[in-house]
Amino acid sequence: MLPLMTVYECPECRIQSPVDALTWCCPKCRGPWDLAFAGAPVSLPSLASRVNSLWRYAEALPPVPHGPEVSLGEGRTPLVRLTDSVSAKLDFLMPTLSFKDRGAVMLAAHARRLRPRTVLADSSGNAGTAIAAYGARAGLDCVVYVPEGTSPKKLEQIRAHGARIVEVPGDREATARAAREAADEPGVFYASHVYNPYFLHGTKTYVYELWEELGGRLPDTIVVPVGNGTLLLGAALAVEELYGHGLVDTRPALVAVQAEAVSPLAEAFHAGAEDLTGPAAARPTLAEGIAIPAPPRARQILRAVRATGGTFLTVTEDQIRAAQRDLAGRGLFVESTGVACWAAVGATPPRPGLTVVPLCGAGVKTGLAP
Ligand SMILES: [Zn+2]
Repeated sequence: MLPLMTVYECPECRIQSPVDALTWCCPKCRGPWDLAFAGAPVSLPSLASRVNSLWRYAEALPPVPHGPEVSLGEGRTPLVRLTDSVSAKLDFLMPTLSFKDRGAVMLAAHARRLRPRTVLADSSGNAGTAIAAYGARAGLDCVVYVPEGTSPKKLEQIRAHGARIVEVPGDREATARAAREAADEPGVFYASHVYNPYFLHGTKTYVYELWEELGGRLPDTIVVPVGNGTLLLGAALAVEELYGHGLVDTRPALVAVQAEAVSPLAEAFHAGAEDLTGPAAARPTLAEGIAIPAPPRARQILRAVRATGGTFLTVTEDQIRAAQRDLAGRGLFVESTGVACWAAVGATPPRPGLTVVPLCGAGVKTGLAP
């Protein structure tokens, strides 16, 4: 049964839309939706007997009746100590080898109920792969728009799941524009990890898992890589929920990491701006998964980091390269985007208490950076 309360809502205009509609953005400002949804507090003692996936936090998740049947066992990734004060959460240990599965399962479960003609995604890699996999699991027709020149390994993985691929000439933004046009066609569900807020309610389980693993508390600092901010905004949601329900006493600092080569949010943050300050430089970077020159949720991301007393850090290509090798030397082979947080933590003075970094994608997806 769907509570009537769950609707899409524009965070800027406050316009609402039913979640059964295929309207994928605010009709007034064309910005991404949030979800007007109030979950219930999760009872820590009750978790021991629950399913071993992110669906164990059912009362915190928006209603998606097909969730459990679409599940591939995502979530519940291990927390591993790297130093006395830094632990890594191994989110690359997911069915499609990236953290995007947390959000993709929510989108696929929601789409299954809507029964659209086609599910459409656009991605430079991991999100498209996750949507293709969960779309297959849900029995949905999927098409994934990718930028021309996307690595053959990633295309192969998307195709293997039965999704069609549309290669779009030009950069990542050209792909996003083409996808948004196609998303306006009738019968299309735009399974966008950027625009659709169900995705963020999936990624928020990252923080619920930390809370459970640490026995009902959160780390002092949560460091996340930020391109479109899908993990950061999910983390911020979870922190607000846990704090709002009185399940934690304090809010951790959210520290966002960008590659120096493409760092529009870090620039805006340090300029004290509420939104992007202008067209950002977009130089090539090994952290291709977070190389987003104009993230649509920029205002929300900046607000979320400021609200927790966090900050933005940037990392150089050399630091990314060194961090990937350093982690591999510790037994963890992680893709070059996914090592950005470890690179950032290693390059800055330690913060008090426990810091957690996510290792977001498996190294086999991209190989070792040259
Ligand atoms: Zn709006």
